[in-house]
Amino acid sequence: MVKDSYSKDTKYFNKRIIEKQTEKLLRYYSDPDKKARKEQGLCKFCYYYNCDRIGGCAITIKNCENCGTEMSFGSTATDMYCLDCAIENGICKQCGQKID
Ligand SMILES: [Zn+2]
Ligand SMILES: [Zn+2]
Repeated sequence: MVKDSYSKDTKYFNKRIIEKQTEKLLRYYSDPDKKARKEQGLCKFCYYYNCDRIGGCAITIKNCENCGTEMSFGSTATDMYCLDCAIENGICKQCGQKID
């Protein structure tokens, strides 16, 4: 007999994931935190969608790819640019794409 592995719990869990993703997408498209997002030097993708970055918990030191300023991060999820460079050039500090 095949076990019914698609239990109620799984259904509920899947539904929660869909809801979370949908919420992210809606926020991505409506851009409700535009001001806060730009102040943090992040593009829509990184701010709304790529916000659950999972990294190790070691402190990571990295230099800004533009000006070389040393930046430290509380995880291995690091940014490409420092906030100054990101804002000055209108680019996302995480992925480097132009912020619209
Ligand atoms: Zn910089
Ligand atoms: Zn980005």
